[in-house]
Amino acid sequence: MHTLAGYDIKFLKGVGEQRAKLLASELDIRTFRDMLYTFPVRYVDRSRFYRISEFTEDMPLVQVRGHFIRFSQEGEGAKKRLIGIFSDGKSMMEVVWFSRIKQISGAYKPAVEYVLFGKPSFFRGAWSMAHPEVDIYDPTKPPHGLRGIYALTENLRNKQITARTIGKLIENLFDNLRQKHIGDTLPQEIIDRLKLMPLHEALLNMHFPRSHDSLKAARERMKFEELFYVEMHILRYSRERGDKIPGIVFPRIGKNFTDFYSKVLPFQLTGAQKRVLREIRDDMRTGRQMNRLLQGDVGCGKTLVAFMTMLMATDNGYQACIMAPTEILATQHFENLNEWGQRIGICVRLLTGSTRQSERRMIHEGLLDGSIHILVGTHAIIEDNVRYRNLGLAVIDEQHRFGVAQRARMWKKSRMAPHVLVMTATPIPRTLAMTVYGDLEVSVIDELPPGRKPVETLLRYEEQRHSVYSLVGRELKAGRQAYIVYPLVHENDKSSLKSLEEGYKLICETFPSYRVCFVHGQMKPAEKDFQMEIFVSGQAQIMVATTVIEVGVNVPNASVMIIENAERFGLSQLHQLRGRVGRGADKSFCILMSHPNIGKDTRKRLSIMTETTDGFLISEADMKIRGPGDMEGTQQSGIAFNLRVADLARDGQIISIAREEAIGILDSNPSLSCAGPNRHNESQNYRLSPQSISIVAKELDFRFRNTYDWSRIS
Ligand code: ADP
Ligand code: MG
Repeated sequence: MHTLAGYDIKFLKGVGEQRAKLLASELDIRTFRDMLYTFPVRYVDRSRFYRISEFTEDMPLVQVRGHFIRFSQEGEGAKKRLIGIFSDGKSMMEVVWFSRIKQISGAYKPAVEYVLFGKPSFFRGAWSMAHPEVDIYDPTKPPHGLRGIYALTENLRNKQITARTIGKLIENLFDNLRQKHIGDTLPQEIIDRLKLMPLHEALLNMHFPRSHDSLKAARERMKFEELFYVEMHILRYSRERGDKIPGIVFPRIGKNFTDFYSKVLPFQLTGAQKRVLREIRDDMRTGRQMNRLLQGDVGCGKTLVAFMTMLMATDNGYQACIMAPTEILATQHFENLNEWGQRIGICVRLLTGSTRQSERRMIHEGLLDGSIHILVGTHAIIEDNVRYRNLGLAVIDEQHRFGVAQRARMWKKSRMAPHVLVMTATPIPRTLAMTVYGDLEVSVIDELPPGRKPVETLLRYEEQRHSVYSLVGRELKAGRQAYIVYPLVHENDKSSLKSLEEGYKLICETFPSYRVCFVHGQMKPAEKDFQMEIFVSGQAQIMVATTVIEVGVNVPNASVMIIENAERFGLSQLHQLRGRVGRGADKSFCILMSHPNIGKDTRKRLSIMTETTDGFLISEADMKIRGPGDMEGTQQSGIAFNLRVADLARDGQIISIAREEAIGILDSNPSLSCAGPNRHNESQNYRLSPQSISIVAKELDFRFRNTYDWSRIS
């Protein structure tokens, strides 16, 4: 298998230089191995023909058999299209082409029976199919069975690379490999014991399933392989880290902590905050470096826990820092922490991209001589020229904006790796946390401070807009502030930007006596900060924005959140957005404005939002509906492993088995070196032959060579 990663895809029959470039840029396929591991995203059953009368809107791709009755051209210029009327003998449908019109018109003859393969859609009162695959019907050939459908991009389609082209290339690849054996990526011992399908057969069935059963077996094998290596990787590195990287010991709770607790802290800690502080405190006495993920819903009081943890560091003579993903958030943290710090004689400073040079120099000095105890900032604080006298703790807020490598850069900031506390409000279900953040211990704050009124969430449609605006008007009149959020899916999505701008105009017209600020991702940072600032400070009462406000902005006075086109947001994103309100003592509202025609899943998603405010319930539901591959926060995290076949929401059992195998193997073969000493008291079960060890070591290296390597830090 590993040698296949050495074959450039351009040498595959049917590819060549041009297509190789396209495959690399569009699908990340560069080598034979990449191609083999690019699996269909779904399969369609081509063992039967459908009747047009059986069509439904939510059907996947289907095939129909029949004749073209006639062709006609409609529209002009860019809107030009070719329409064929197709009959299955009983009913008719339209077949539409928007490109290649010249080639197609005239190519299909009325006397010939064709098989069309495409997605039915209902349009202008009739069924139609756009750009189907067309084949001449051959009664001597049985209809093919399961067919893989590969993900394509717009760019590939424009270059006439279809799912069928990809299928054909993979066929060529298997032809090419017929002479060679695809060496397995799993140890023979595991394949035998767990009765897994061997790699060659599994790959073949992933692309060209022989039957439903063999596809299932193939998928199971590929899922196991994928999860096994993720677990191996996580476990190996966390073990190495534990062995190699000593932790600073904070033996005592001192004056800073107790002063703050008894004199400054304005409220009781919640039970969950106390428990988490105990967990952290226990970590800091062990002599091992803490790497803890602190999860908790928005507003549960993570920042406070972080601050008190920082005080543990200062009490033991160490410095601490906290890094936030944006300047606004860093500034908010600074304001809080500085106020608390001042009252107990702790020096807190803020360092961001816009800190002036003179101030910056003073901060650098203060960090080196130890007069600054806590540094708050953006990623500016991990720049190389920022040095500490003795950094003992690094806190990272909303870490899904930071990758592992950035996290690790913190460690190099002092002689001994500082303890690391990562905070996130993205609720992550257990199976996911175990896998994706497997190298972190997890603490959860599952309780909100008392007295919070849950946000009332309403689902509303266009015709109710008027009453929605009256609600906003009432809140504004009472001195509150409001957010109005629009989706902006892609950077250069012009139509979304247009609807955002129109929304802004509408709001300005509807609420002429209030100041409206306007924020979106394509603005210059300085302008964005300015717009945010006038809202945070209360000079503007309404903020019209895209999801740039999603993370962490804290304006307790805001009591309404309107989410436009809520049907276009994912659940966890909706939850994050909703977390922007309900931060003060007043009752708050979140209004989901939705298009009336939405699918079943979307309706379910929106109604979950109206039923619960529990982030964990929401995230479990999200995983079930969408699968974890899509979960926001995990995709961008940089820690997320790009799972191709496994599904963390559904494959919990395979995860457990994979983890068990990985633990067994690491216990009996800790060094994974063929010559290295193997422990003899461990179960014989997991002992691997030298050949198998070499397979595992190579595959691990192949899969994770770009991932951060702890051993390079110490
Ligand atoms: P998070 O960062 O988890 O979203 P914050 O730490 O910003 O939450 O806390 C939200 C608000 O709740 C802050 O104003 C904070 O001072 C307050 N808060 C935190 N802990 C408590 C508590 N135990 N009781 C009352 N209010 C609290
Ligand atoms: Mg926060």
